[in-house]
Amino acid sequence: MTDSTARTPDKLASAQPAQDQTAQDQTASAPVPPASASQASAPCPCGGYPKGATYSQCCEPALTLTTWPPTAQQLMRSRYTAHVKGDEDHLFRTWHPKTRPARIDVGDGAEWIGLRVEAVSAGGVQDEEGAVEYRAAYREPDGSSGELHEVARFVRRARRWMYLGPAEVLG
Ligand SMILES: [Zn+2]
Repeated sequence: MTDSTARTPDKLASAQPAQDQTAQDQTASAPVPPASASQASAPCPCGGYPKGATYSQCCEPALTLTTWPPTAQQLMRSRYTAHVKGDEDHLFRTWHPKTRPARIDVGDGAEWIGLRVEAVSAGGVQDEEGAVEYRAAYREPDGSSGELHEVARFVRRARRWMYLGPAEVLG
């Protein structure tokens, strides 16, 4: 089930702590054609869950409302991917009504370039609450880069996982 093909995720490489991206040499030895118009075989922007899963196997069902993510981590990943894709609707509907802003605007120009989930606390299929610690790297239009490091809290509402907000924003 783990597909560890040598498709180089380049800037979206570090989705999970284990860094075993074996090939950076897309040009040299990869027999795979470039994922052009269709991103069918490229890893999901979140890095893939499980690692290396494609967008259609990973976050797309959430963004298209085909399924609601069954765990807090998967909801968190789908929200990251929604940031990458500028999907404000998904960010809005996955944010708890109690804490979400009236309007979500992701058009600030920053480009999200990688997600790393560092720790998960509860948030499973049997849980009602959970937390996910992650680092999300971004690049500003001026070329500077930064990282958001957050412990995000999630709760179920009407059986669906919702983002509640940061428990902590760590430096
Ligand atoms: Zn994903």
